[in-house]
Amino acid sequence: MDLSVREAHDTIRRAVADICGHFPDEYWRRIDHERAYPSEFVAGLTKAGWLAALIPERYGGAGLGVGAASVILEEIHHQGGNAAACHAQMYIMGTLLRHGSDEQKAAYLPKIASGELRLQAFGVTEPNAGSDTTRIQTTAVREGDAYRVNGQKIWTSRFFQSDLMLLLARTTPYDELEDKTRGLSVFLVDLRDAKGAIEARPIDTMVNHSTNQLFIRDLRVPAKDRIGEEGMGFRYIIDGWNAERVLISAECIGDARWFIERAARYASERVVFGRPIGHNQGVQLPLARAHALTESADLMRWKAASLFDDGKPCGPEANMAKYLASEASWDAANICLDTHGGFGFATEYDVERKFRETRLYRVAPINNNLVLAYIAQHVLGLPKSY
Ligand SMILES: Cc1cc2nc3c(=O)[nH]c(=O)nc-3n(C[C@H](O)[C@H](O)[C@H](O)COP(=O)(O)OP(=O)(O)OC[C@H]3O[C@@H](n4cnc5c(N)ncnc54)[C@H](O)[C@@H]3O)c2cc1C
Repeated sequence: MDLSVREAHDTIRRAVADICGHFPDEYWRRIDHERAYPSEFVAGLTKAGWLAALIPERYGGAGLGVGAASVILEEIHHQGGNAAACHAQMYIMGTLLRHGSDEQKAAYLPKIASGELRLQAFGVTEPNAGSDTTRIQTTAVREGDAYRVNGQKIWTSRFFQSDLMLLLARTTPYDELEDKTRGLSVFLVDLRDAKGAIEARPIDTMVNHSTNQLFIRDLRVPAKDRIGEEGMGFRYIIDGWNAERVLISAECIGDARWFIERAARYASERVVFGRPIGHNQGVQLPLARAHALTESADLMRWKAASLFDDGKPCGPEANMAKYLASEASWDAANICLDTHGGFGFATEYDVERKFRETRLYRVAPINNNLVLAYIAQHVLGLPKSY
């Protein structure tokens, strides 16, 4: 990375850290305790333009690459916050940008960039399909100039904080398909017109994530709100996965650095047996190891981000970055908790909150087993196992 790029990233880091400074640990602790949505934080980020980082300048965004955008999310996590409240807008928007019509882009992107419209909800996962997205059962049946949508979604996060939802639904029955990756279509659903046809039931979870189960009954979606060609939706969603992997890996890197810095500070201050616990190799070596693993995961994150921003294939690198970074942050979380001893379990230290939050990344948006299965198949040439 050349010096000017590094300086630009440092400028982003400082600006994001400045916003995060208005939302200290107490804020995130309270939000977590109340299971509330961090509206003020998201409003602050939106107002400063950071959530529009990936939207091209001609549509009112900052026109940054994925690498620069990932720095925003990394810094939020490094400062102790949680970008999961708003990160989806960055990668969902890519489907609209890459595959939407000129009319759709002109209608939505400037309003998303300004914050007038919130595109935070992503309705893909279903209870009966799980990780096997090609098996989703929610149907969208064409009726004249609209589709009638029926089905169920699960884990649809930020539904109540969204004006628009990107929805994947089946437009051709599975059994009629020769190519099982076809037959799904993507829709940009205007939730302001749809509330009566979608019942959302919040799911109580280990982390504060505003996530829901959706029951969709006779939802009418105008055909003009379908993105791209009918039947190509799975392909369009896959197109966004590499960017998503890079952005998530940056959040993990931010988490890992938070854990390591907090633990190193505590290890220097906490005195037991007459000396700071950090004097003991049993305490300091795991921290050094966590640091080394985090920095190596970060190298893969930057390799993937650079390839992506250069328009080059980066599936293996983006998947490896997500895997390595989520494992590094989980490792750092455990070491941070161990370093804090009993105090790690006290909410006022924020370690247990961040510990729960970073655990999610081994499971979602994609499970690490499936990341490894991808690498086994696409890099090592082993049989497809999923
Ligand atoms: C808090 C939270 C928020 C989420 N937000 C969203 C959202 O906004 N939108 C959305 O669409 N989804 C969302 N998800 C869903 C998330 O993407 C899925 O949970 C995830 O993809 C895994 O699917 P699953 O939970 O059904 O697990 P399953 O697919 O049932 O898998 C269960 C386990 O089996 C393993 N497994 C399954 N098949 C294989 C195989 N072939 N080889 C090896 N291991 C295998 C998996 O790796 C996993 O360990 C969210 C999930 C959570 C927990």
